[in-house]
Amino acid sequence: MASAIQASFPCTTISSIRAAPAPCAAPCGFGRGSDIGPFSDSGRASWLGNLHLALSKLPVPVQFDITAPLTTELTEGCLEELRLSLVSHLKQQLADSHRLTILKARPHQRATLERRAYLTISDREQRFALCRLLASDSPLAVEVLRRRTPLVPREQRTCRFCERQGSVEDEIHVLLLCPSEQLRQSRERFMATAFARQPLWRISWERMPERFLVDGVGDENIMAHLAEHTHTVFQLCETVPMVVVAPEEQAQTEA
Ligand SMILES: [Zn+2]
Repeated sequence: MASAIQASFPCTTISSIRAAPAPCAAPCGFGRGSDIGPFSDSGRASWLGNLHLALSKLPVPVQFDITAPLTTELTEGCLEELRLSLVSHLKQQLADSHRLTILKARPHQRATLERRAYLTISDREQRFALCRLLASDSPLAVEVLRRRTPLVPREQRTCRFCERQGSVEDEIHVLLLCPSEQLRQSRERFMATAFARQPLWRISWERMPERFLVDGVGDENIMAHLAEHTHTVFQLCETVPMVVVAPEEQAQTEA
């Protein structure tokens, strides 16, 4: 994610300062002096000037007083400000996104930056499929046709499996609702496991499918089964062609 990349330079640099042995507070080569720059006496560029600039250019800028002594407290405080800057930016990105529906449905009391249990799913391909699902980076028509030129309207990104008019091929429809026989076996296997684990999930599946998916991702006994189902569906997407609406047909629909 861009914000993480943008934050990597200041984070690495500040961590290097923090790791320096006492009492110099800055590692060898990071000492204050004539290399501090555009803010130094010499006026030359330096690592400290670059750090100050990088922090100020973040989507949520971080203040860093380059005239203050490089103490442990200063660097620790700056690292915490940097973490809060990233959390604030990620929250804003989630709030503004029209695509990250599953992540947006996640309970707000959960920390924004924490290691999630689904990252421990042992099967690499299935773990990757689940991460793609959460990041809305899936092979489903709702995502693939969004990038087409000219843009295909969302309501015309028809499900390739059931081809029903009005059935948009999105995460909820394909993983939980599509009547196609091609998806039935994998879905029923996943549902049987989920409902055996928590019978009340049948209600959230019927009434709040996004909530059901979020609960499945967050449940350590279910997430691997959801990842397996997701991986199966994504593999099918590679063998079943998408439904493509011809331009003249699209024009008739819009007329
Ligand atoms: Zn369908």
